[in-house]
Amino acid sequence: MASSKNPKYIFVVGGVMSGVGKGVASSSIAKILQSRGIEVTSLKIDPYVNVDAGTMNPTEHGEVFVLNDGTECDQDMGNYERFLDRDLSGANYMTTGSVYKTVIERERSMGYGGRSVSVVPYIPMEVIDRIQNAAARAGAKIAITEIGGTAGEYENILFLEAVRMLKIKHPSDVVLILVSHLPIMNDDNELKTKPTQHAVRALNGVGLQPDFILARAKYPIDEKRREKIAFNCNVSEEDVIAAPDVDDVYDIPINFEKGDLGNLILKKLGMRPPKKDLADWRALVARMDGATKPVHIGIVGKYFSSGKFVLADSYLSVIEAIRHAGAHWSVKPTIHWIDSEQFEPKGKGSRAAAAAADNLKELDAYDGIIVPGGFGARGVEGKLAAIRYCREHGIPYLGLCYGMQLAVVEFARSVLGWKDANTTEIDPHTKHPVIDILPEQKKLMAEKNYGATMRLGAYPAVLKKGSLAAKAYGATLISERHRHRYEVNPKFVAALTRAGIVFSGRSPSRRLMEVMELPHKVHPFFAGAQFHPELTSRPMRPNPLFREFMNAASKQIHKGGEGFQ
Ligand code: GLN
Repeated sequence: MASSKNPKYIFVVGGVMSGVGKGVASSSIAKILQSRGIEVTSLKIDPYVNVDAGTMNPTEHGEVFVLNDGTECDQDMGNYERFLDRDLSGANYMTTGSVYKTVIERERSMGYGGRSVSVVPYIPMEVIDRIQNAAARAGAKIAITEIGGTAGEYENILFLEAVRMLKIKHPSDVVLILVSHLPIMNDDNELKTKPTQHAVRALNGVGLQPDFILARAKYPIDEKRREKIAFNCNVSEEDVIAAPDVDDVYDIPINFEKGDLGNLILKKLGMRPPKKDLADWRALVARMDGATKPVHIGIVGKYFSSGKFVLADSYLSVIEAIRHAGAHWSVKPTIHWIDSEQFEPKGKGSRAAAAAADNLKELDAYDGIIVPGGFGARGVEGKLAAIRYCREHGIPYLGLCYGMQLAVVEFARSVLGWKDANTTEIDPHTKHPVIDILPEQKKLMAEKNYGATMRLGAYPAVLKKGSLAAKAYGATLISERHRHRYEVNPKFVAALTRAGIVFSGRSPSRRLMEVMELPHKVHPFFAGAQFHPELTSRPMRPNPLFREFMNAASKQIHKGGEGFQ
């Protein structure tokens, strides 16, 4: 791999509060530098003690993103991959837990030669090593590292110490960017700067001075407030960059370039700024913003008690994949969250069954339905009912991981008549375990070695010539990312195939089913993937399954209409 000597470093840290869009700000900074022909790489530091994001609950922490090498990480890594159109590796992600783990293991194996291993400098040194390693692996001239948490809290202090140590050694190669929030208190819409001043003081307190302040706010920062921040926070006025709310995150790189951020950063790093070229990106944003033809996509899941905000965060990659596919066809996808539990009869009587069946009819209003990944039993019968409805009524359907497994269960029940067919995740005693854990995985489960039982990261799949999947990918050998324990049970594949399922994607050994589909003559678009196609979708290269799903959905005659305006 190409290595880059003496890379430059950009650190992005948040001020005032979390959730101000540090991740997309970091991604956008990386994008504008990349658009000038500079090789960059992006890293994320999460202050958690968790060694990775694998054990985190998505409704609390957002989607668990998976990289090619199987690293389970923060959703910001997905943003970096999407903005940069680069595959990243676990070298680009670290947590407090993973850093300490390495240092402790090194100490245990005498890697520190008997020295006493103090937190400073050894923990920050490991952080710096990792950043340098990631830059070298990517052959990057600039490594952009986002530090989770906000300035002034205890959790990320050792990471800020790493920035300080690096800056002492390479004063002209390190740029620190504070992404701050300017709240509005009164009707007069004045953006308040005091919290930002405090955030800068907090950084000063750990020996750091930001080079730039990104003023995240409802509006572009006005001159008066800019002067105030510059004066109180020791930065020049041009280094206070407006970062107003936008409708679309893909607008942010374009906005930053309006403030000339790319040139300003490069100048500070002592690099001669090559010409900017965001032409492709601008075209993409224009396509996204210009599309008017609505396509209504329903995402059916167990959404009990989670707010819309939570959903958008837990299914970020699915939403983005839908948007990329929409941009490809110049249509405007609208996403609707559909709670699967409304399709389950509440109680035993025929009235309850009729009410649930009535609810199912609402699916006619959508141009396409997705059942995304998931775990556990809640809402599953409702998802199965929705899948059946889509299959029987020609509504384009895309199943993602669990959504694929459940499409197989539904087919086994309704078409093969195996009423008890199920995944053993839900019913371990079914006579028809069409989705099951493979014997080798069962052994690991029995040993309580849960972490090792997940199939994680990129695996190859061989696609059947002439299938919907092969046509979509334009290839017969693909690689996609996984995160699951259960598989289509090889024992039932022959019977399912005879009944009409086409297993159009398989592992090279042919033992694992990777893609299922129904032939075009029986359904306009019905497909499911055991992998997570959303994880590899990129703004300018939508994932092929999403792309074809969107094509089929946009051809649907929109039957509903009311409530969708
Ligand atoms: N629960 C299923 C499994 O473990 C599907 C997982 C998923 O959708 N990511 O196999």
